[in-house]
Amino acid sequence: MTVHSDWRAEARAMVAGLPPMPEALAEAMTRVPRHLFVPERYRSSAYADEPLPLPYGDATISAPHMVALQLEFAEPRAGLRILEVGVGFGYLAALLADLTGPSGHVFGIDIESGLVREARRRLGQAGLGERVTLRAGDGVAGWPESAPFDRILVSCATPELYDAWRRQLAPHGTLVAPVGSAWSQELVRYRAGSPKDVLDRGPRCRFVPLRGRLHPDI
Ligand code: SAH
Repeated sequence: MTVHSDWRAEARAMVAGLPPMPEALAEAMTRVPRHLFVPERYRSSAYADEPLPLPYGDATISAPHMVALQLEFAEPRAGLRILEVGVGFGYLAALLADLTGPSGHVFGIDIESGLVREARRRLGQAGLGERVTLRAGDGVAGWPESAPFDRILVSCATPELYDAWRRQLAPHGTLVAPVGSAWSQELVRYRAGSPKDVLDRGPRCRFVPLRGRLHPDI
């Protein structure tokens, strides 16, 4: 196993190689040890800008530049309550927990209970366990008992912005999701109360598709 004795230097080098991003985000990406959020056998690639396989289904851990884009679009900040749909091993959730701080809270759902267990353990190792509440389930329904959320980030490809997500946004809350087909999506941002259905559209991207009752064919 690779020992990341100077992981902060590795994280700084990783961030330096990514497209420019807001300073607060760059700092968070150098505070969160990404090697704790990848499978042990891929630890030597933890600070490369690459997606990595997850040990369940065909899911992948998003590449750091994609996580940075999700965060740039979502604009998390201290004190916010945030829901992530599709936590995987929990890297994005860890960054969200870092950025929302002790006065905020992160809620995360994954359809694979094995991944929820992994994410819980890994967030604990990173010292962020108290700031994140996880459960297994189909994230298409959101998490009504814990709503409203200031932000909802969907980390799997979705054909549409589901009503449950819109309803669970706080006033002026934002929803960021990759909307499109299983092969290609556009990262979109929707703001609660906005007269426009989609506030703005970001770059094309490729996330693992949502699975579950509504998505049996994928
Ligand atoms: N956010 C992760 C990447 C996760 S990949 C990271 O930071 O690396 C997408 C995840 O979505 C997978 O873990 C997959 O199991 C999960 N997923 C797929 N369909 C889902 C659904 N309907 N509800 C919740 N999670 C789902």
